[in-house]
Amino acid sequence: DLKEAGRDGAVAPDGVLLPDYDRDGLHAGIVHFGVGGFHRAHQAMYLDRLLRDPDTYAEASRWAICGVGVMPPDLRMRDALRDQHGLYTLVEKSPDGEQRVIVVGSIVDFRYAPDDPEAVIEKIADAGTRIVSLTVTEGGYNIHNVTGEFDPKNPKITAEVEAIGRGEAPTSVFGLVCEALRRRRDRGTGPLTIMSCDNIQGNGETAKGSFGGFARLLDAATGDDLAAWIDAEIPFPNSMVDRITPATTPDDIEALEREHHVRDAWPVVCEDFDQWVLEDHFVDGRPPYEKVGVQVVDDVMPYELMKLRLLNAGHQALGYFGYLSGHRYVNDAATDQPLATFVRAYMDEEATPTLRPVDEDLDAYKDTLLARFANSHVRDTVQRLCLEGSDRIPKFLLPVVREQLAEGGHGEVRRSAAVVASWARYCEGVDEQGEPIEINDRIADTLREYAGRQDEDELAFLRNSDLFGDLVDDERFTAPYLETLRSLKSVGAKETVRSLV
Ligand code: NAD
Repeated sequence: DLKEAGRDGAVAPDGVLLPDYDRDGLHAGIVHFGVGGFHRAHQAMYLDRLLRDPDTYAEASRWAICGVGVMPPDLRMRDALRDQHGLYTLVEKSPDGEQRVIVVGSIVDFRYAPDDPEAVIEKIADAGTRIVSLTVTEGGYNIHNVTGEFDPKNPKITAEVEAIGRGEAPTSVFGLVCEALRRRRDRGTGPLTIMSCDNIQGNGETAKGSFGGFARLLDAATGDDLAAWIDAEIPFPNSMVDRITPATTPDDIEALEREHHVRDAWPVVCEDFDQWVLEDHFVDGRPPYEKVGVQVVDDVMPYELMKLRLLNAGHQALGYFGYLSGHRYVNDAATDQPLATFVRAYMDEEATPTLRPVDEDLDAYKDTLLARFANSHVRDTVQRLCLEGSDRIPKFLLPVVREQLAEGGHGEVRRSAAVVASWARYCEGVDEQGEPIEINDRIADTLREYAGRQDEDELAFLRNSDLFGDLVDDERFTAPYLETLRSLKSVGAKETVRSLV
């Protein structure tokens, strides 16, 4: 029972790794917003690795984590971590079914901001805090859908700025951090680093835009010039993060107790793969992450392209064809041999030629990706891959198409066009058995409307220029697109995939 595990003499069941280092000697040098599944499977795990190694313990011990939650669901995390002395269990599952069970000890404190916002602000303002890190989801940066920039008109944001102007305490991650930065500046404590670990291309740039945008609103209300100080002093390193971490289910909690005899209110289950490529851009030090497998580099962009065009676009190639072929779990789709061959051919022939040089064996990376997709122990759903296609296809797949068709490209877009056709067929909203398909997308109605017209006008779906620009006019793309769409409608997904490979 992790409530007991903090006591002296606690013994772990066989095969379970307890923190074997002195937790009383840890000091929180990182304040992290958004302690969910992913943070606990990723950043907190890397720090735990550093703490387990006697060679890096002393240095890492100054970088333990104080978690902060600002949303009501974080109350549950506060209670779970408080009762367990910050400890939680990480279950890493490999494709062959092997499990590694680790009790992670790198989180030493957790604050639910509404309980005491002042304490959170002072914690960040404290000289011992040198990094603020974030996994507050893609939606947590208040980015406007159309402009792609911080949305200063969001009523929640303007209401908070007004409230702060009236002397009320801040409530959001932006409000809390900006107030702490103001105190650090005024007291001469100096800057810290703000490190986003969210799954956003250019996550550091995005965070910089959001904190800067919020500070400008505050400045307008108070006559301060905090935004200029943030712009000049605070680094926002970019990073690429990767580890498939589904939400914890009641079954996961029961299985941990049944199979490993560990009672934990909120464990985390994830795959055994992990990757973190981090830009080395910090103002007051950082943990020596490179010693535990983090790739610390000058430029993250080539790695982001690799991940977006192989993993994320690969998921799109698997998702719609997989769904239409009747698969509901990702591992079932990824072990459907013709489909796996098709996805790999997309990666090799279309995505790979558009990548920039990276210090990575791309063939091995792609082999690993397909093995990760096929991991039957991480129950990822096809439905999840098919979420928000209108965000994902334009960000992950269409850049590959554009580069292939641009001057200097190879012009190879047959498979990418087929993936777009599979999405167009999916958006008709009825599967091959006549059952309704639930389309989870911000613009689901628009997608259904365009797809609904393709019986009369075969290119109707591509006429949505907000998504596709002028691709509808390029026959190099529309010819293979139409071939696949017709095939999907006449012989179905499984047969279509077979003919594509
Ligand atoms: P989660 O639901 O377990 O945790 C999300 C956390 O973010 C919670 O603490 C929540 O309160 C907080 N949050 C949400 N909106 C917020 C807001 N507006 N302001 C402040 N905090 C907010 O989700 P997770 O699986 O931990 O994923 C979090 C993020 O991590 C993802 O959105 C993604 O950017 C990144 N990520 C996740 C995975 C994965 O497989 N789960 C993989 C790579 C990257």
